[in-house]
Amino acid sequence: MRILVSNDDGYFSPGIAALAEAMRGFGEVTVVAPEADRSGASNSLTLDRPLYVRKASSGFFYVNGTPTDCVHVAVTGFLGFRPDLVVSGINNGQNVAEDTLYSGTVAAAMEGFLLGIPSIAFSLADRGFDHLDTAVHVVQRLVTGFLQKPFNEPKLLNVNIPSVSLGSMQGYEICRLGRRHVAQPVIEVASPRGEPMYWVGAPGGIRDAGPGTDFHALAHAKVAITPLRVDLGDAAAHVALDDWLQSLP
Ligand code: MN
Repeated sequence: MRILVSNDDGYFSPGIAALAEAMRGFGEVTVVAPEADRSGASNSLTLDRPLYVRKASSGFFYVNGTPTDCVHVAVTGFLGFRPDLVVSGINNGQNVAEDTLYSGTVAAAMEGFLLGIPSIAFSLADRGFDHLDTAVHVVQRLVTGFLQKPFNEPKLLNVNIPSVSLGSMQGYEICRLGRRHVAQPVIEVASPRGEPMYWVGAPGGIRDAGPGTDFHALAHAKVAITPLRVDLGDAAAHVALDDWLQSLP
């Protein structure tokens, strides 16, 4: 099996090193990741400049672009072969609910999925990489499962791992996305020259963390496995919109 590993935290992240190491036993591993921390990059592609792929002393390849650039360049050109699996992470912090729309970790996996390859995003819930060994165990179990029982068709999975010891972990659950309230406002600070500057603020608080959600699973020390789809279309709105369109003067 040939596995492409990427992330959004950058090729130097402890999370991607752990993920690459966890994949070694499964086959041929290639790491292609951003040269900088591109968390929050979502599905952006770089179209205004060329992309370079360079090799670090770790053997990992790094790109002057986004997580999506990395997987796109790797799969459609750089690798020269089609990987059997794309894995992204292990992210420094959870990617749940609406986070999945902004996440570069999810985006790297989504790019693999859009190119027709089964893809899995892995995130460790709390920032700071405490209990990274728990995440490695989860990664190895799920990829072992994928090898023994491959999906009938390519799937996109978003896996969030609770930041607890392996002994405290309470199992695995297939989840739906929770919901957040709207985001907190930006934080304004003054530059040394008195000019206003802005930091993007915190994500919104929890709105739906009911049973079955990724929030709920993590809160109960379970691994949240959330299957994702890419179709943003809202078929359920068609009738109401048709009525609206017909009623226009
Ligand atoms: Mn990240």
